[in-house]
Amino acid sequence: MLGIIAMFCLIVDRLDFTKNIEMLIEFFDSQLIEPQAPTLDKQGIEETLKIIEDKFDLSKVVSNPVPVFIFPLNYSQRNVNMHNWPYINSITCTAINPALAEENELPDDQYILTHELGHLLVAKLSDYNTVPESFYPIFEKGFHNKRENVEAEYWPELFADTFSMAAAYNTELANTNPFMQKLFPSLSLFEQYFYNIIDEAKSDKISL
Ligand SMILES: [Zn+2]
Repeated sequence: MLGIIAMFCLIVDRLDFTKNIEMLIEFFDSQLIEPQAPTLDKQGIEETLKIIEDKFDLSKVVSNPVPVFIFPLNYSQRNVNMHNWPYINSITCTAINPALAEENELPDDQYILTHELGHLLVAKLSDYNTVPESFYPIFEKGFHNKRENVEAEYWPELFADTFSMAAAYNTELANTNPFMQKLFPSLSLFEQYFYNIIDEAKSDKISL
């Protein structure tokens, strides 16, 4: 089951500003390498955001009160393909690094951008390092698994990937997502879950 996790994002404490600045400096020093492919361009970023916005009206949650910033960088990363920074509500959008590909299958950068937005969403809905309680029964039903089988550190990744599937379902992003076929029977469940939870957040039933 854990093969579903496309990549691991560094978990940071978004409230510790000094620590986060140190991590950002460390990121530039140690993570960035020469671009191994083209970075997703402005058009690709805008297209991805528009599809997700048209479906979920996501900006009302993730850009509240601070806008999401997406920075395309003409570099690749050594250990992951993109990175989100919840304390500055940002994503560094870097070029795919083929060295990180599993079984020579290059991940799609629109899919990864969608996954990173899932992390910024969970940072708004609950806490960056965990997931809303409502996600657990959706996971158990949709993934045919038990929550006890998943270690705590993997939940944000599962949430972000489930969001990526829900966002891509029945859109032009469907072909970019590597998990859609495997979990096809659960996609409408995932989509409805994110409609509900995003609507609740927009109507302030969840405190942001
Ligand atoms: Zn991630």
